[in-house]
Amino acid sequence: MDESIDFNKVVGHERVIDNLKRAIDNNQISHSYLFEGEESIGKRMVALSFAKTLLCKEEGLEPCNRCNSCIKFDNANHPDFKLIESKKGLISKKTIDELIKTMNIAPLESKRKIIIIDDSHDMRLEGQNGLLKTLEEPPNYVNIILITSNINNLISTILSRCQVIKFYPVENKKIEELLKINYNKTLEEANFIAHFTKGSVGRSIKLSETEDFLEKRDQIINIIDNILNGDKTNIFTARDFFLNNKDFIEEILDMMLYWFRDLAIYKTVGKSELIINIDKISLLSSQSFFSIDKINDIMERIVETKDNIQRNINYQLAIETMLLGMQEV
Ligand SMILES: [Zn+2]
Repeated sequence: MDESIDFNKVVGHERVIDNLKRAIDNNQISHSYLFEGEESIGKRMVALSFAKTLLCKEEGLEPCNRCNSCIKFDNANHPDFKLIESKKGLISKKTIDELIKTMNIAPLESKRKIIIIDDSHDMRLEGQNGLLKTLEEPPNYVNIILITSNINNLISTILSRCQVIKFYPVENKKIEELLKINYNKTLEEANFIAHFTKGSVGRSIKLSETEDFLEKRDQIINIIDNILNGDKTNIFTARDFFLNNKDFIEEILDMMLYWFRDLAIYKTVGKSELIINIDKISLLSSQSFFSIDKINDIMERIVETKDNIQRNINYQLAIETMLLGMQEV
């Protein structure tokens, strides 16, 4: 597979890409951009493609992927490009200070120097203030692209210095196509994953590469079915599953929520495009004798369990409480 970075590798975001290309074409490229939107939807891939284009010797609207600059960019050793990443949730003041120093040195091989700061909300206040001075008066060869999924953590003076570009979740259809063609998923599997990640391309790919993700869904659906059928011994088997999958608990609880949400939809409107677990429709149908009240009650318990686990309440206790509660209702 061709690994070079390019706009055509991005899934969705056509409007954003068109606007960036138009800015290049009209020679109206901003010194500072802020790419804003949910995590893992493709902001970084667009930023990298844009940076590569701006550095490309051909000076077109897309990287040529052949020139020296493009090759160095793909090999992550372009001297006029710098990608700053967060380490353990922090971009330190020291990192920013060093960055500012290197920015003041003119580019070596290109007309520009491009800086991308990914997860820029991980800069603390002092780091942001440090960067602010550069954003106010950047050297004319510098272009900075800040990326964030948490715009509220950036100070307003940074926002006002940047051209903010908003990214929206990618349409499910496009993610489904990608998963079917490049990751060998069936339509139903692709449909489930795209909905499950709420339009996040990055997470969809990650889950598609996680070999037993869909297997885990089958297991958890099985467990739900057993518990709802009221056999007390099943609680212990279920508990073991949860203890063995502690690292995956957020996904598992989300899968459970989607299951009961589907059940509620099935009960109220019947077979519908809104149902995510559409490949399991017969099992949903067999559980549809549960009342909406019961379904809502179980969903509340799952949400409560998510909260409890996030607040670091004893894991096993939280799980057992949920499982017993599910059987009671
Ligand atoms: Zn090139």
